[in-house]
Amino acid sequence: MVNSPPLAQLPFELPPFESIRPEHAEGAIDAVLTTNRRALETLRCALNDPAQVITWDTLVAPLDEMGERLRRVWGPISHLFSVTNTVEWRQAHNACLPKITSFNLEISQDYTLYKAYQALASGSHFPKLSAARQKVIRDALRDFRLAGISLPEGEKKKYRAGALRLAAAQTKFEENVIDAVQAWEKYVPEESSLTGMKSAGKERARQKAADKGRDGYLLTLDFPSYDAVIRYADDRALRREIFEAYATRASDQGPLAGRFDNTPLIEEILGLRHEQATLLGFANYAELSLASKMAPSVVAVESFLLDMNVRVRSKAFAELDRIKTLAALDGIADFESWDLPYYSERLRTERLGFSEDQLRPYFSAPRVLRGLFELVERQFGVRVEAIDGVTTWHRDVRTFGLRDADNRWIGFFYLDPYSRQDKRGGAWMDECVGRHRDADGVHLPSAYLTCNFGRAAEGSPPLWTHTEVVTLFHEFGHGLQHMLTNVDEAAVSGIRGVAWDAVELPSQFMENWCFDGECLRSFARHWQTDEPLPDALLLKLTASRSFLTGLSTARQLELALFDLRVHRDYDPGAGARIGLTLDAVRREVSVMPPPPFSRMPQSFGHVFAGGYAAGYYSYKWAEVLASDAFSAFEEAGFAPDTGRSFRDTILALGGSEEAMDVFVRFRGRPPTIDALLRQIGLELGIKA
Ligand code: ZN
Repeated sequence: MVNSPPLAQLPFELPPFESIRPEHAEGAIDAVLTTNRRALETLRCALNDPAQVITWDTLVAPLDEMGERLRRVWGPISHLFSVTNTVEWRQAHNACLPKITSFNLEISQDYTLYKAYQALASGSHFPKLSAARQKVIRDALRDFRLAGISLPEGEKKKYRAGALRLAAAQTKFEENVIDAVQAWEKYVPEESSLTGMKSAGKERARQKAADKGRDGYLLTLDFPSYDAVIRYADDRALRREIFEAYATRASDQGPLAGRFDNTPLIEEILGLRHEQATLLGFANYAELSLASKMAPSVVAVESFLLDMNVRVRSKAFAELDRIKTLAALDGIADFESWDLPYYSERLRTERLGFSEDQLRPYFSAPRVLRGLFELVERQFGVRVEAIDGVTTWHRDVRTFGLRDADNRWIGFFYLDPYSRQDKRGGAWMDECVGRHRDADGVHLPSAYLTCNFGRAAEGSPPLWTHTEVVTLFHEFGHGLQHMLTNVDEAAVSGIRGVAWDAVELPSQFMENWCFDGECLRSFARHWQTDEPLPDALLLKLTASRSFLTGLSTARQLELALFDLRVHRDYDPGAGARIGLTLDAVRREVSVMPPPPFSRMPQSFGHVFAGGYAAGYYSYKWAEVLASDAFSAFEEAGFAPDTGRSFRDTILALGGSEEAMDVFVRFRGRPPTIDALLRQIGLELGIKA
């Protein structure tokens, strides 16, 4: 590894993680909010002065400055809360959250500011502003309206109270899921009970037991641990037990029934969202959610999902039949949900001639990272360099900088790859600093890339599954859009200001490389022998792209339709009726409904704790864009121009133009669904 540059020479502003303690959080937030409120008062006075000329510099710049000042303090606090979810961080985060929410509401419901934005938008100066600045102003006016700026004072107050309660309820939802995961474990004394499980999974379970001073094995519900059992353990009763614990997390069912039950919170969250939507004049929350997205209407989204369902349904059933047939050979006549991952994996081994586990030796962490970095250098002309000596929040975390072709630094990221007890599950990219220009010049972007991969077993480097490699590429795609932006306006640089249902474009686009033969050949090498992934195995892997995609698509459609309808159909008189909605959705799209005790919504954090509310469809929506974008690379034979053009448009423009316009700039035409259908192995043209 090349020596990394000394920290003092780095042009990045990174949080001083060594000195950020939960007990400092609230005081720091109070201080920054006091400063901001003072600045806001000064701004209001100036705007109320009839002599004041309203320009970008007198209105937007001071607000941006407040926003960045707050983000610098709040960003690390909310990040540490996600990756170190201890009691202390929870208390600190939860003490700050209502203060932040209140301040943001004060701004978004401030009539003086709103009038000033209106004046700016209708002034003679407006057409002379850059396209990015015009978009910032249009977005701001929309967001004022979506925060209830035009409501009478009583209703504004109601909106504010609802928003505060909603923020707290969503946080509690997430905490319940984390607590439920942490509260369950199963001790297994004998290795013989774990037959079928792969050595890495067993080793991690052994390590967990050893950490608690015990011999034997400890099974837990964090995803790598759950997956290692449900996919490989021969013992059907064990699979059922862990399935039940996992499928009932934070609910009224299963081994921890009622202890962390999210059902009342779901009721409350959906009720509050519906109230906000109707206050703003929408029929339901799904309409409110779509008001700032690329998709034109709730009807259009539902039609898109149902059309996909029609296309994919027979493939999904055929796949399930094949899996059941295989299980029947083992004498399983009553095929159940806890058999599905296990026999899917068996079918994969049988049909494709390899298992996920067989690939792991070719995906050692250092090799995969090098492969990913070489790819972005080849395609987008940016070099990634490890940077040592940066203080982080955990010894697992690694730090990297991005340089442009002319050697200038352009961005920075933290990579936190491994699962930990107190870390939120899943994988995500979040911004640390967003690119923006102010009086001091340009501030460079930095990102957090967070995953929950299984740890290295003793005696080897971390060996990732192909699925984990795909996840890394996915999050890195978000990171690229955040870091390769060339937009200087804080509100629309990087991923900011990008319509939510287009945000998964760069991320899902990057996943394609993990199925591309040339790209895989460049980095998939055995960690011990340095042998490349054998051609036969490589072909099988690339061919596996469409393997069981009927089932996985049906599952995504189920989640997306449930999310859309549960927000669309909320009825204050009847409540959320999540069970009813879910059953109806499953009758339409599910090919393998789970057992009655299963409680999917109670751990559906994307929708009930995160930003995907009435927006989970975004994954599928953006997948159309992502596959179509990747097909441009295939059509051009991966000529360097295509990478350059992708960088200059989709990765560079951020939210400075409408998502559709940016896509058309790159592709030369609006998106079509053909590439996605090819990718999931569906013939073109058949619709029924
Ligand atoms: Zn994503």
